[in-house]
Order: sequence, then structure tokens, then C-alpha cells
Amino acid sequence: MTLTADEFLAELRIRGATRLTRVTFRRNRSTVWSLTQRGRVLNVHAAYGDASPELLDAFAELAREGGPRSVAARRAASLIGAWPALTPALREARAARGGRLGSACCATLEQVGYLRALYRYFNLTRFEGRLPEDIPVRLSSKMRSSLGYMLPGDDPDRGRVVVEIALNVDLMLEGNGAERIDTLLHEMAHAADYLLTGHRGHGRSWRDWARRVGCRPGRAGGERRR
Ligand SMILES: [Zn+2]
Repeated sequence: MTLTADEFLAELRIRGATRLTRVTFRRNRSTVWSLTQRGRVLNVHAAYGDASPELLDAFAELAREGGPRSVAARRAASLIGAWPALTPALREARAARGGRLGSACCATLEQVGYLRALYRYFNLTRFEGRLPEDIPVRLSSKMRSSLGYMLPGDDPDRGRVVVEIALNVDLMLEGNGAERIDTLLHEMAHAADYLLTGHRGHGRSWRDWARRVGCRPGRAGGERRR
């Protein structure tokens, strides 16, 4: 049975998430979930209307904690993000948008899942979970001289946002594993630097992030193919 947003809210409140006052279902390409209004509003992809009781427990845990702030809530967040039905739902939303942001993502379903898992893993283990859960990581076959980029944006409601991280599809080739990891960390460091300090480029605050998360602190690591 598919829950409505109000029913979803009721399920979470029954599970102790009493701070929540509203759940909104989203059908866009990037929202997995987010808590807004100081944790009172949960925005969640509409696909979760089919969530199992275990997933509802996980959402309730997150909402009770106000985000992935405890070990239990982080575990809940990764359970939610790893839900198999999510990938096709996001893919559909992306396809419906018709690649307005330029080149479409050429990743296979498996690659999308792999990149999302890798992003989340690094977010938790190297960025202290300070990046949003839902930044899309896509592959591009159109990059000539670069290995990746982070696309910064400005949202009228939310302020600074990261629209997406894109990686050169060649990074998925066998033998490019080290470059792939380094480039993803490089672009995630740009995301952290932009979201938390408003800086772009490879200045001191970016290099601090690069050092902290363990990617090569040079421009060559990310944007230039050598
Ligand atoms: Zn860079």
C-alpha cells in the first residue's frame, strides 16, 4: 500500500518523531530526503510512499535526531539511501527533466548506485557527514580536458547549494580506480568549501579540506587531465 504524505507523517509520529509537523513528497531528480524548518518538515522523495516498516523506523530515527547526528541516525540514513527502489525513481525524474543541465548522465544503473554509495561513504567517513545526502553524482562522456567538476548554485530559499558533481566517464575504466577516488574527493572538497565557506577555486580553505580528506591538494587532482 502506498502512503500519502499525511499518512507517512502519522507513521513517523507514532514512532516518536513528534517534532515533525509536515511531510512533503518530492518528485525531482535530487531529493532523497531533507529536513527543513529546524527539523519540523521532512521533504522526501515520493517513492518512499512505498517504504517498509523498517524504512519508516529509519526515517523516524532521523527525524527524532534532526539529521544524521548520531551513530543510529547515520545508520538510518544509509539504510534509507541504499533502498533499491530509489535509484530507478531518481533516474526517471532525471530523464523527465530532459538533461537541462547539459550533457545527460551516461551512467548505468549499477554505476549510479556505486557512485551514490561511494559519495555517502566518504561523506560519513571523511567529511563528518557535513555534506548533503543528496548531491547527485553523475558521469559525463563530454569532458575533454577535465576529470570532474562541482556545479555550485544559489537557491532563493536554501541559499548556497551544490547542483551536482560530475565525473569524467573514463574514470570508471578499470585501472583508473585511484584517480576516480581522488577526483571524487577533490570535487567533494569543492562542495564542502562552497557550502560551508562560500569559496570556489583552489584557495587555502579548499586546500585545508583536501588535506583533511586525503586527496592530492593540487588543481591537477581534479580539473586537469595530465
Ligand atoms: Zn578543483
